[in-house]
Amino acid sequence: MKMKKYILLVGLLGAALSAYPFFKGRLIAAEEVTKLPDKPSSPKSEVIRLDAQVSVQVDGGVVEIQNDGRKQSFTANIHYNDTYVFPEKPLGPPETFQSADTNEVTLRYGIPGERQFTLKVVTLNGTPGAIVTGTLENLGKSNRVEYYFWSWDSTTPDIVTPNGKKSANPKEWSVFEPTPWKYVMEGNDGAGWALATECVVGRGATESATAMGYLHQLDRFQEIAPGGKYTLSFAAAWVPDAKSAEGFGNTINRLQKGEMVEVKVDYGKAAPDWARTPLAGGYYRPCTGDFEKYWADEVIQKQLKTWPWIIGSTPGPEVLKRMQAAGIPLLHYVVFTELLDTVAQVKGGSKVYPEWYESVLNEERDLAKHPDWISIDEAGKRRRALFGLMNNHPGLLNTCFHQKGLMQAIEKQVRTLMERGYNGVFVDLAFSTPECYGPKFGIHEHAEPNKTNTDKYMEALDMIYRVVKEYGQDRIVVLNGALDSNWKRADAVMWESAIYEPGKAQQVQTKAELIARGKKYAKAVAAGKVLLQLSFCGPKDKEAWHRSLYSYCYARLFGFTWSDYNEMYEVDPEKALRLYSLRLGEPLAEAVEIEGGVWRRDFPRAVVLWNGDDKPAGVNLAAPGKTELRNFADAAIFTGKDGVFNLTVPAHSGMILQDP
Ligand SMILES: [Zn+2]
Repeated sequence: MKMKKYILLVGLLGAALSAYPFFKGRLIAAEEVTKLPDKPSSPKSEVIRLDAQVSVQVDGGVVEIQNDGRKQSFTANIHYNDTYVFPEKPLGPPETFQSADTNEVTLRYGIPGERQFTLKVVTLNGTPGAIVTGTLENLGKSNRVEYYFWSWDSTTPDIVTPNGKKSANPKEWSVFEPTPWKYVMEGNDGAGWALATECVVGRGATESATAMGYLHQLDRFQEIAPGGKYTLSFAAAWVPDAKSAEGFGNTINRLQKGEMVEVKVDYGKAAPDWARTPLAGGYYRPCTGDFEKYWADEVIQKQLKTWPWIIGSTPGPEVLKRMQAAGIPLLHYVVFTELLDTVAQVKGGSKVYPEWYESVLNEERDLAKHPDWISIDEAGKRRRALFGLMNNHPGLLNTCFHQKGLMQAIEKQVRTLMERGYNGVFVDLAFSTPECYGPKFGIHEHAEPNKTNTDKYMEALDMIYRVVKEYGQDRIVVLNGALDSNWKRADAVMWESAIYEPGKAQQVQTKAELIARGKKYAKAVAAGKVLLQLSFCGPKDKEAWHRSLYSYCYARLFGFTWSDYNEMYEVDPEKALRLYSLRLGEPLAEAVEIEGGVWRRDFPRAVVLWNGDDKPAGVNLAAPGKTELRNFADAAIFTGKDGVFNLTVPAHSGMILQDP
């Protein structure tokens, strides 16, 4: 089977790389980040048949269900550096097990990056289809940020769930909430197969008839400690109709729950109070060129002062002076996993972008002068940064953190910024970074060959935190990468593209994922840390206000620090300033789920409601002693009876209800 080149939904590369705020306007959506390689076809591979419907291709670990000439194949796609790999030849012969009730086969595969993938396929007598469990185990000595997913060819955009039939727009990515069963239609004759999983299920966008269907974990990126596992489990069977799919879902009670490794998180020291605010500004504007347009005192007084603190890209000393005069803490942007070789950039036909020149001591980090700092890929070539590949920056290259000179340059830049008086640094791409194979090709040495490039990068992040704090506990480090292990080396951690990505109206995370993440990160907030929720407003249309309120209210539920990259301001400055200036006060209680799946949290100056479902919800909101409430969004007045308000909370919406 030859797979088409599909574009992946979300990789950690996407999560990380769309992080390049100063490339605004050229931000790449996560979906566009990387293409799946062609799956190596192995027609001669041994095939194990478990029953009439289920077989497993040994090379590749492809699971196939078939019935009456119809087939569906499932493939595991495992993230590795800038791409995805598949299980290839198994490590040993298949291990089989048969009982009166079941027929099982287990296959183990070595996966690059010191990992092992174990595939277990089980059939149950009397029940069609297969239960498939794939486990990716970290055999290395370092934590790894893992992501993998199962994919299949999807010929129609229709899926029936317990909530009814949903027809996806084939040209857009679709994501379906976890439900006990799904009936995935194939072809136009109503035929389909049952899918039972606790995972998120989605479908890719395509111009042609066939797209990629996929499933992945609710908590899709998981930081896995040595010996830890990332497990995905699902059951699939051809069935005649949706009713049978429901029956199949009920039968699959042996389905393993997706395991999430319980990581004991070290949150480290609390962030200073000034940074623990309900919102913060991301303001990435160049200094050269339109200085007075972006950084004039008037702009600072009118627009920027509504933000308690601001992350700029490369705001120079004059900007810092003005912001200090206005009393607004200002952070400076830095990035180290990708640096520019200015000579290669120009030779390749591109310009050196102003943010590079504006960045302090850029000439000392120019890779044209430090070829030994460049990360070497699997083929022995200089590793081009994915963002550079996608956006025509031929000189943008990944770096090797084993190089002492690079570590010294990082420290020097951070010290210089602190000495100039910035309130902190924002470190972009604070995630895993691709491996470097320099020693293998005799290009450079790694003094600690047992450590991965990511290990050394995390040491660099530790160092940055230490150095920044030398200049005062009130200085802060913001890391763009919501990893468990990042909390101890940061005051704030950014979750980029929470709910919405730039320019897209479609929600990135399902409701279930938003609630799960909300609860998870709320623990960090309780420990005094800042979860910086960067939610773009999607397309800059009339719904942008609605989406902004939706993401804002979500942030209020879990105590996150909300930022919209100043996008709403570009849509409607007046409305944006109203929202940016809104101060609800310290929450009076934790967020709770009330009726209809709506969430509620109370503040001294508002009741916040949030509906993450794709259906409107009716609620009887208890607000003792109140007779009228005003909707912040449009100033509409609701009248209650005996302190109860009968309201409809629209689908995917947030409501801020205040005294009139
Ligand atoms: Zn190296």
